Amino acid sequence: MDTEQTRPVAIVTGGSKGIGRAVCIELGRMGCYVVVNYRRDPAGAAETLVQVKAAGGEGESLAFDVADPAATQPALADIFKRLKTVDILVNNAGITADGLFVMMSPAKWDGVIQTSLSGFYNMTKPVLEKMIRRKKGSVVSIASISALVPNRGQANYSAAKAGLIGASRSVAAEVARLGIRVNVVAPGLIETDMTKDLPLDNVKTMIPMARIGRPEEVAKVVRFLCSEDASYITGQVISVNGGMF
Ligand code: NDP
Repeated sequence: MDTEQTRPVAIVTGGSKGIGRAVCIELGRMGCYVVVNYRRDPAGAAETLVQVKAAGGEGESLAFDVADPAATQPALADIFKRLKTVDILVNNAGITADGLFVMMSPAKWDGVIQTSLSGFYNMTKPVLEKMIRRKKGSVVSIASISALVPNRGQANYSAAKAGLIGASRSVAAEVARLGIRVNVVAPGLIETDMTKDLPLDNVKTMIPMARIGRPEEVAKVVRFLCSEDASYITGQVISVNGGMF
């Protein structure tokens, strides 16, 4: 089905819950057609879509694994064929697999790197090829405070998210004069499934604002960076962390 859009088209990876869902809703509020990507949770993605539409947007949900180029390539080819354009890409999908580095298995190392960092490559390169042709677009990737300050047990996650920042800054410099902006948002602790097992009372003592953040508080910054209000911002990392450093 040809669903060529008059609305701006946004792809959000990992949109079935948490920060990704909040980003989808904010982009819906901007009037976007939002492609809600997910991996394992179709019901979560469907609920996101309901909320995108309630916010004034349109969209669809689409399952694929961002870590697997054999999955991202046909999915993106299908999106390009049907929707013709991509205006916004939010690389949000991410996982943790914590453990002390000396005991970290290759699977834990690779899984986290492949999702956040190779996922950035698998998604951003083909989307940029499209954006470059139109000389227009915005890419925002979700890194983490763990990329910026040491965190025991997260060498894999810190490496993936720091790599994401390095890659985003370099790509931003490459495409800036082509009308495309590439930025990063680095959240601190945000209340989602990813953090539900943390001892929150202990954790709060490390945060100057003495509370953990809400997904919406990250999503509003992502929305700003995606919008024309951020037309002179590229290659930046914006922290959303309650003042953690
Ligand atoms: P959640 O665990 O709540 O949600 C993760 C989302 O990513 C889900 O939609 C999941 O899909 C999707 N996902 C995971 N792996 C893949 C994959 N290989 N391909 C496609 N989708 C995938 O996480 P958060 O909302 O907390 O985190 C969102 C992002 O923010 C992540 O990159 C995370 O690293 C980062 N972040 C989170 C912080 C926090 O405190 N929560 C702090 C700093 C950064 P499905 O449900 O279908 O499996």
